[in-house]
Amino acid sequence: MHKDVMASNHRKTKIIATVGPACDTIPKLMDLVKAGVDVFRLNFSHGTHENHLEVIDNILEINEMLGTHVGILADLQGPKLRVGNMENNGINIAPGDILTFVNEKCVGNKDRIYMSYSSFAKDVKPGEMVLVDDGKIRLEVISTNNKDEVKLKVLFGSFLSSKKGVNLPDTKISQPSLTEKDLEDLDFILTQPVNWIALSFVRNASDVTDLQKKIAKKNHHAKVIAKIEKPEAIKNIKEIVKVADGIMIARGDLGVEVPMEQLPSLQKRIIIRCVKMAKPVIVATQMMESMIVNPSPSRAEVTDVANAVLDGTDAVMLSGETSVGNHPVLVVKEMRKIISDAEKHFLMLVRRKDPDPQAETFLSDVLCFNAPRIAEIVHAKALTGITVNGYTAFKMSSYRPNSEIHIFSNKIHMLSTLALVWGVKGHFYSKFTTTDDTIKDVNEKLKEIGCVVPGDIVINTGSMPLQKRIRTNMLKISVVD
Ligand code: PGA
Ligand code: MN
Repeated sequence: MHKDVMASNHRKTKIIATVGPACDTIPKLMDLVKAGVDVFRLNFSHGTHENHLEVIDNILEINEMLGTHVGILADLQGPKLRVGNMENNGINIAPGDILTFVNEKCVGNKDRIYMSYSSFAKDVKPGEMVLVDDGKIRLEVISTNNKDEVKLKVLFGSFLSSKKGVNLPDTKISQPSLTEKDLEDLDFILTQPVNWIALSFVRNASDVTDLQKKIAKKNHHAKVIAKIEKPEAIKNIKEIVKVADGIMIARGDLGVEVPMEQLPSLQKRIIIRCVKMAKPVIVATQMMESMIVNPSPSRAEVTDVANAVLDGTDAVMLSGETSVGNHPVLVVKEMRKIISDAEKHFLMLVRRKDPDPQAETFLSDVLCFNAPRIAEIVHAKALTGITVNGYTAFKMSSYRPNSEIHIFSNKIHMLSTLALVWGVKGHFYSKFTTTDDTIKDVNEKLKEIGCVVPGDIVINTGSMPLQKRIRTNMLKISVVD
């Protein structure tokens, strides 16, 4: 692996960077990887399939060149609602004004404003709140003809400009969470070696399982991240975390749809739930927002990133900061420094869930939970595992151990999938002869990369018999020679 990447690797919390015009060429993406990016996010709200294809090819090429396993996360837009174009690019409004939202495309004025959601008039009820432009405008539904026209009263706001986003926190939306655009994007995505697919505006567990089924049908390995950005998702969080492969705390839309002051406690509660369930969790949006323009972050942003680390998140995410910002590389470097310092003070206070004796994976779970514990007791430098589907890595990481976690797999895509997971470093390994040999090879590799020196203790896990490739069922305490 490239030496700059190795130097930026002494970090447990992972960094996700959104790709956009500010960073989509090979040299720029490579600088971001060297600065500390673990996973690139492709935002399907923007860009063409050709753009995304080029970025994916660039990332794969960089992985080849640097010997890295940077992951790829494809983020589906979901039912993001918007108003259409407005007269003079925007109109003045005032509290008390009555606006009319319609189904038919038109240039908007006070009497007629196009809204991109065809079932809007059917789904809303009088008294419900409609928020426009990140909540800068608040409207209340006065009446609907249940077909194509809704009257709304302005409660708050002064200027409504073209194409602004609309959030409906109170409304039970009938549209499926995968829109027609999402299905087209998904068709493209599933021809590509992406590791994670994020689903926007998830409402319940079946939104997630529906997508998982579509992915499985195409025999694709991508895992699903549920973006939590609606009050309904908060209500159903238990079931959603249970079925999703990962969770994103999408603070942008969530902060519009729930009272914003609830964000910090929601973030903490969701992270705790995810860690307990061994599901990777991402904190997203406005983490280093001021660096879109400025060369250094605000005090509040530094504190926000550090607090996300202390909360125990797997990853922190950058959006506009890297996709369209002035300082994409600098922002990643700053974030890495904040993470590294916060991690010195990290103490996971989550009470871990005991393995469930009823679970089919019970015996393996007991081992995966206790291996990090043993590592702590004997002050092991490293904890190692071998994985086919990532299970051992997710479980061991969720213990949030002090020792490094090195996971070996013969599936390249799995190593990139694990790039998102707290503390996990992935290595390719395909020689499976005997358990003795594998442990020897694994420990040699750790020596080679400078993780351990003779005399250090390593906790090795694996499964015996090796050839059967069954779940982790074996643990060895090695002293490196
Ligand atoms: P978005 O999701 O950037 O796709 O809107 C993240 C968020 O809402 O925070
Ligand atoms: Mn969002």
